[in-house]
Amino acid sequence: MNNEYSISEITIVTPKEALEKASIRIGDGKIKDFSKSTLKDYPIKGDYILFPALINAHDHLFGTYYPKIGNGPYICWLPWDYDLKSSEVYDERNKNTPYEVYLFGAYKNLISGVTTVHDHIPHVVNNTLIDKLPIRVLKEYTLAHEASVYDLKWGDGIEIEYKRAVEKDLPFVTHIEEGFDEESLRGVDTLEQLDALSDHTVVIHGIGFSEKDIKLLAKKKVNFIWCPGSNMFMFQRTAKVKEIIEAGVNVSIGTDSPASGELNLLEEVRFAKKVYKEMYGDELANDSIVRMITLNPAKAFRLDKRLGSLEKGKLGDLLIIAGDKKKPYKSLVEANLKDIALVIMEGKPLYGDVSFEEMFNNHKSEYTSVTIQGKDKLIIGDLNGVMEKMRKKVGFHKELPFLPVGN
Ligand SMILES: [Zn+2]
Repeated sequence: MNNEYSISEITIVTPKEALEKASIRIGDGKIKDFSKSTLKDYPIKGDYILFPALINAHDHLFGTYYPKIGNGPYICWLPWDYDLKSSEVYDERNKNTPYEVYLFGAYKNLISGVTTVHDHIPHVVNNTLIDKLPIRVLKEYTLAHEASVYDLKWGDGIEIEYKRAVEKDLPFVTHIEEGFDEESLRGVDTLEQLDALSDHTVVIHGIGFSEKDIKLLAKKKVNFIWCPGSNMFMFQRTAKVKEIIEAGVNVSIGTDSPASGELNLLEEVRFAKKVYKEMYGDELANDSIVRMITLNPAKAFRLDKRLGSLEKGKLGDLLIIAGDKKKPYKSLVEANLKDIALVIMEGKPLYGDVSFEEMFNNHKSEYTSVTIQGKDKLIIGDLNGVMEKMRKKVGFHKELPFLPVGN
């Protein structure tokens, strides 16, 4: 068996429970079982918790730049898109190649504990870039931009794209009702008329959803992705998420791009909790939130046989955070970048604290040292080099706060 090892004496969060002083055995890039390896074991000392690596259910990696753009509230996404594309920040971003901007996005996600991202964009844009990135960006999906007459006409049209998704057992992904004009508010009706609502369907935003829309989505087992940071920035409103959850819809959380959303998935999760409290005067439970960035998106994107939870046979995508092992879910919801102690994809460490150096040593040449939020880390590739190159291209010492390198 290749590259077998185990991590032991750590709190492990499986879908159902948090196992204390537990072990997990990885081999051939997969989770073998929950025993200690006789070949190589890494016992963990101190307050650490092991989760499945996170899934960011909605991002646009090509939008990985800063600052945010927009002067809302808008009536729908269209005038925001105009503001974005006519801004100086957009021109500055485009001094970097698409691959370079995608690298910013991949690293933004990696240092926040994410190994899997859905980059909502036509295949023609991201297909050649994905394989060169340090994390997993989904390739298997069909899509539309939105369901409105003025949408950006991504893909081959809703009917064809949806049918393709069903035939190939893929997700069909689209923004929906991202606005309050008459056309936006017809989004769910339009998908229904085109017979494009089922458990293959993944809809994003839904800030205009009516009670009737929510009932229909639940009945058709449609998956919903919530991006509260982006919604509040652009519209000062977000979807009726409590009603959506209570209707039984599978809900995930995504960041959207940093052009409108929060800086990373950890910030997005905290923002989600805050918005929920403001809207409903109620706490969104920490274990529910953790499912919205692990198992729920794995289900939505039809990857739950391979990802989303720590179970025998799934891929070895692991996240270790520093935190209170008595309160694992709360610790993840409140984690900062510096608390992301180790990120492993298919058994291979990609990013982590220098205290895990021994694990990185097998692949030493692939890593560089980097300081994130004042903490020394090891990272796959050369993030310092990426930052340096970006600063040369834009001609000044640009800071990207979702990549707080050296700070
Ligand atoms: Zn989006």
